[in-house]
Amino acid sequence: MKKSKYEKYIDETEIIQIVSDLVRQHTVNPPGNEYLCKEIVTEKMKRLGMEVSYYEKEPGRTNVVGKIGRGKRSLGFVSHMDVVPPGERSLWETDPFTPTLRDGKIFGRGTLDDKGSFACAYSACKAFLAEYPDFDGTLYLVAAADEELGSKLGIIYLIQECGLHFDVAIIPDGGKMNVSIYGEKGVLWLEIISMGVQVHGSMPQLGKNAIVPLAELVAELKTLDLGDKYDPAFDGWTMNIGTFHGGTNTNMVPASARITIDFRLPLGISKEQVLRAVEDKIAAVKRKSPDANFQVKVLHETQPHLSDKQSLIMKSFDQAAKKLGIPMEYTTMGGNTVAKDLFFAGILSVVHYPGDDRLAHVPNEFVKIEDLLLGSVLYAETLEAYFIHQK
Ligand SMILES: [Zn+2]
Repeated sequence: MKKSKYEKYIDETEIIQIVSDLVRQHTVNPPGNEYLCKEIVTEKMKRLGMEVSYYEKEPGRTNVVGKIGRGKRSLGFVSHMDVVPPGERSLWETDPFTPTLRDGKIFGRGTLDDKGSFACAYSACKAFLAEYPDFDGTLYLVAAADEELGSKLGIIYLIQECGLHFDVAIIPDGGKMNVSIYGEKGVLWLEIISMGVQVHGSMPQLGKNAIVPLAELVAELKTLDLGDKYDPAFDGWTMNIGTFHGGTNTNMVPASARITIDFRLPLGISKEQVLRAVEDKIAAVKRKSPDANFQVKVLHETQPHLSDKQSLIMKSFDQAAKKLGIPMEYTTMGGNTVAKDLFFAGILSVVHYPGDDRLAHVPNEFVKIEDLLLGSVLYAETLEAYFIHQK
């Protein structure tokens, strides 16, 4: 890393302490219990001189928002306090809720995702405020609830019901130290139900088997093609048949069968296009099996989004990375994060991990202490670029 004036403000001991204190709190979602982190993050926010507010859509599901400054231009860091379950305990070499320091790393559930990220965001704010106590802008530090299960009690609630708003955001919750995510595909979940007629399994000629035509449809869907006319910022579209259920007894002709499909769609491929392609495949099955009877339903959908690379926040972040000599790559992904909720609320963001997203949600999750230090400097430089240097 190239030299930065912010290095002298980064307190390694304090960062390790924050991560450790937070990891000890059992905030597995469900049930969440993010209130357990409230005092720890409040104390840190107050130390920065922030005004601290609490928001709970459900008891115990505490969102903590710190705010400092009065200027017009605003930026928020969005981290979350809930974590995913530890999973199979026997795969952990240490207790997931007892932070363990080894080889320059902190092990434990949430050390990276997203408690380490909070420590990083806090320490960036601290460093920036030490240099620019009277900066012209407003800075927010958010320790949100419920991110791992969709943010309905977290950032979505804060934005839609509590009036929280900032111009731009940094989301230390995805990507890698040298990879930032600036767009996400849309999600489209379809359910296809095949309907038959149930009779005794010894007289199948009297009924209509629902499974067989659905199996034929699955085979047809293998060749479904949505083409390649989409925004080149994305690496393509994907389709996954996630479930197949049908029938109840071996000695019955099944009356119904059901599949669910997960499409991830780049900008440029619409829901209508997918539904047309699926209908074409259904027509192909019906030509072979005229009795086939299908119903298609949309279960869930989100829109694809792409942040503007020329936006103030992306330019600021990129300048900071360049200044520090971090070779930053910008990419899009198929997963959906709070960046999408913020985007459609008019808030452009940068998604970046002070670590590696392959270490999130796995057993033996860890964060490298050097990454937390570097991330802190990177975010502090980003704040300077955004609040001080951008015109
Ligand atoms: Zn996360």
